[in-house]
Amino acid sequence: MLKSKSALVTGAGAGIGRAIAVSYAAEGARVLVSDIDDEAGQRTVDIISAAGGIAAFHHADVSSLADNENLVAAVLQRWGTLDIACNNAGIAPPSTPLADVSEELWLKILAVDLSSVFYGLRSQIPAMIKSGGGAIVNISSILGQVAFSGVGPYVAAKHGVVGLTKSAALEYAAQGIRAVAVGPAFIKTGLETHLDEQSRLSLDSLHPVGRMGEPEEVAELVSWLSSDRASFVNGGYFPVDGGYLTR
Ligand code: NAD
Repeated sequence: MLKSKSALVTGAGAGIGRAIAVSYAAEGARVLVSDIDDEAGQRTVDIISAAGGIAAFHHADVSSLADNENLVAAVLQRWGTLDIACNNAGIAPPSTPLADVSEELWLKILAVDLSSVFYGLRSQIPAMIKSGGGAIVNISSILGQVAFSGVGPYVAAKHGVVGLTKSAALEYAAQGIRAVAVGPAFIKTGLETHLDEQSRLSLDSLHPVGRMGEPEEVAELVSWLSSDRASFVNGGYFPVDGGYLTR
């Protein structure tokens, strides 16, 4: 689906980002794997290379505009064009009632989960315009549509990602750029291994399918949305949530 495309994925050293990078490469894209954790990012590159794909690592902290700009420049220097960008990196805050959230925590979550996507768009869009277009997939969450107690700053940031995505889609569609948001529910990225049996079962039961999702199930949707097969898909929010949002 992605043959001869060049792509970047942020936060691709683990979890959903790694699954997306692996899927992009399996579909034929050249992938610039990016993360703040260099070792983890390099492991993703090694996984892709071992499977016969093309990938390289570039360190970038998504909460920095300069790092986002350098990341795009690195893709252009290596492969000439940026066809696909997946703004995936994000962090969840410790569970805290809204009125107890410190200013420091608020600013940190907004920086990594929302400003990051703005900096990504600001850096990626001009490069895509130059080469006639591209596809941008921003990883939001089910919490880009509904709230969940104790993670107010994350809920606000992920709703903001949906708004930024719609703005990019509206403003740059005529220049060949599609932007979409993907909303995973609870995905098995390691967090679940620290839960006791009761907590895991109650998390499973939030999803009508009766279980949490796998990173690869998110990557499947992201790869399709990033491909030319999704050529008339623009500006939407796409849940991958086992039915979570139907309740
Ligand atoms: P993860 O913690 O498993 O992996 C995140 C990766 O991002 C790590 O490799 C980490 O080093 C990197 N990272 C952290 N801060 C960074 C920064 N400032 N700059 C660059 N890289 C950074 O996370 P995940 O669960 O795979 O989540 C990926 C995305 O999916 C996030 O945006 C998250 O909010 C979203 N999401 C996750 C779930 C879930 O249940 N796992 C659900 C909905 C949405």
